[in-house]
Amino acid sequence: MEPNLGFIGLGAMGAPMAHRLQAAGYRLVACDTNASALAGLAGSGAAIAATPADVASQADITFVSLPTPEVVRAVALGDDGIRNGKSTKIYVDMSTTGATTAQTVARQLLTCGIASVDAPVSGGVRGARDGTLTIMVSTDPASYQRVLPLLEVLGKKILYVGAAAGLAQTAKVINNLLAATAMVASCEAVVMGTKAGLDPQTLIDVINSGSGRNGATAEKFPRSILPRTFNHGFKTQLMYKDVKLCLEQAEQLGIPMWVGNAVKQMCGFAAAQGRPEEDFTEIIKHFEHWAGVEVRGTLPRQPTDVE
Ligand code: NAD
Repeated sequence: MEPNLGFIGLGAMGAPMAHRLQAAGYRLVACDTNASALAGLAGSGAAIAATPADVASQADITFVSLPTPEVVRAVALGDDGIRNGKSTKIYVDMSTTGATTAQTVARQLLTCGIASVDAPVSGGVRGARDGTLTIMVSTDPASYQRVLPLLEVLGKKILYVGAAAGLAQTAKVINNLLAATAMVASCEAVVMGTKAGLDPQTLIDVINSGSGRNGATAEKFPRSILPRTFNHGFKTQLMYKDVKLCLEQAEQLGIPMWVGNAVKQMCGFAAAQGRPEEDFTEIIKHFEHWAGVEVRGTLPRQPTDVE
């Protein structure tokens, strides 16, 4: 029999993922502290629960896609948390929460008979909507086999990275440190080129035809920065959280990260200056402000799709 599914956290990523599971025919019960985040799912027939424990009392497998490690710990382990649900036997965390939280949650849920699947994603809001996410997974092999058909509804590439809790989170935060590094370095360089008199769009075309090409120049500049839409769909606050998670783990391991720390400072500055909902692509505005230029596209362009 098909499992009943729970989904907690229906934000930019969670809502489209939950919609895909529902469209694939699974019965879904959802929960979010923001009522407006639930409206779309409720309209298409999902049950709505008041607390994570209520979700876990109705669902065999419960997914979460939540903003911070603190929220994940509260939703999984709090008094109204998943651990106190009566039905859920597998918990799947699709958030980016770092290895330490994944290990803590996995250890404590196991004492309640709940297995944990660490399953952070990359591919952004578009990937969540289109079912083309890359999903990194660490869990025991039996739980992996059980959730694989569900993950295949959500992602195009499912990468099993190992059995130990937290391994997938480690892979994810390293990926995001590099994505942030590409973004910050590209903003700095493209603003410099614009100040020197280059047309920003021409400069991006040059970079994307050469060895400087990266995820920021190939994707975020053409789609969100040059047209000044700043709609990539990933908040500066979330990127800062991910970079911090990576550097915290590096520090625990005794690994110096010179470049990573410079990127963390820049992301932290932007998060402190910006609005809570600010899109990560808006980080370029700080560089523009310092240089007194604007990086704007002049011609309609087809973005190259590499992310
Ligand atoms: P978001 O802020 O849009 O969504 C988070 C949702 O969780 C919101 O709807 C919020 O109301 C809800 N929430 C907060 N506290 C809650 C609680 N206690 N109980 C129930 N619901 C609660 O964030 P997002 O962009 O969807 O990201 C979710 C996770 O996925 C984050 O960990 C992020 O780092 C990761 N991620 C995001 C992207 C992206 O492109 N947006 C890509 C990969 C990974």
